[in-house]
Amino acid sequence: MDKKRKISIIGSTGSIGTQALEVIDKLQDKFEIIALAGGHNEKLLSEQAAKFNPKYTVLGEAGLERICNDKENDIILVACSGKIGLRPTLKAIENGIDIALANKETLVMAGDIVMKKAKEHNVNIVPVDSEHCAIHQCIKDISQVDKLIITASGGPFLHKSLEEMKNASVKEALAHPRWHMGKKITVDSATLMNKGLEIIEAHHLFGFDYDKIEVVVHPQSIVHSAIEYVDGSVIAQLGLPSMHIPIQYAITYPDRFEGIKSKSFSFAEIAHLDFEKPDFEKFPTVKLAYHAGKTGGTATACLNAANEEAVFAFLDGKIKLYEIYEITQKIYDTHKVIQNPTIDEIFEVDKEIREQTKEYIAKIH
Ligand code: MG
Repeated sequence: MDKKRKISIIGSTGSIGTQALEVIDKLQDKFEIIALAGGHNEKLLSEQAAKFNPKYTVLGEAGLERICNDKENDIILVACSGKIGLRPTLKAIENGIDIALANKETLVMAGDIVMKKAKEHNVNIVPVDSEHCAIHQCIKDISQVDKLIITASGGPFLHKSLEEMKNASVKEALAHPRWHMGKKITVDSATLMNKGLEIIEAHHLFGFDYDKIEVVVHPQSIVHSAIEYVDGSVIAQLGLPSMHIPIQYAITYPDRFEGIKSKSFSFAEIAHLDFEKPDFEKFPTVKLAYHAGKTGGTATACLNAANEEAVFAFLDGKIKLYEIYEITQKIYDTHKVIQNPTIDEIFEVDKEIREQTKEYIAKIH
């Protein structure tokens, strides 16, 4: 980066957004902040504005369009959660602005449209999610890569019985052993739906068929993911579990800086790494995500919407943990998939599925 990179952050008050600002704080001579957008936390947003001095701030969804139309941006970090990330990301891509992407829904709901547009406008989409960031770092020549290997920590129920998992409380589901994240993604990590969504993201980001994307459980979260080349060579990316590293990689790509580097990596201290096959009987969400991904069209938007509503119902204490999967599967099975949908059709499906899911939950409880 020979000159300051002009950056905006959508979702600056969330988990990824606040960590991104910690990174930028360490690399102040590398960045100029154009805009910060927060969801609801007005107090934190104004504290951030006072400290980082952006050109402007935006609260809520309404102002996002302004940011994405602001061609002064070299890069926008899309760090909000939920479907509100999708339209602004598309707008920014149309304006030729590079994207550091932390928002899962963008690719899960509309991966085909987003990646096609990015190609048309010659826009880089650099993933922030630690697994995809790892794969991005491993790939030198994508045409020689045979397989992607995505690691999963397995969440808090990895070695608990199915019975214990079925009756888990919200508190137990939120007690993730390795990563501190927002509530929605933490519950998704407990059911492994997070891994399911990541398979779909990986398919779109790297253009691999679903049968060339493998999941392996790795409880220590040191190997963040790997790729296998056609000759059987495996390249993995390792590091201590910290979201600062993938965030920093994504916003400074292709350069690297010391930045927020905490402590040096020691193989000897880690001593051993474990891997195991995922238990699809206990975590059927992964199978469901493969099915939705292979089906394509609106299947993945349906999966995402039904799952998210079910997760909210779980967090509200309305349903049990395992019911998130059961309800999602039930709603998913009734969905009539639209192939090659438009963005409007995707949002229409999202809305309908959310309503159906809420109605269904109200009916059974
Ligand atoms: Mg991840």
